[in-house]
Amino acid sequence: MLISRCAWHPRYHGYPLVEGVASWSGWGVKFTDGICADCAVRFRDEYRAFFERRQLDDTHGPEVRRQVA
Ligand SMILES: [Zn+2]
Repeated sequence: MLISRCAWHPRYHGYPLVEGVASWSGWGVKFTDGICADCAVRFRDEYRAFFERRQLDDTHGPEVRRQVA
């Protein structure tokens, strides 16, 4: 059977998340890595902040860099 798990959960939450069984076919257990909704939001926020920071650095320089909460 195939277990679907969140590959990002240990990084964002400190513990792994198993989301469910993706397929019951076959013997033994295999894992497939995905991303859960919660980690997708965190991932998107992290990268949005990263790109915004880069844009500010490119256009205005570090002196007007905003503090990203
Ligand atoms: Zn997750």
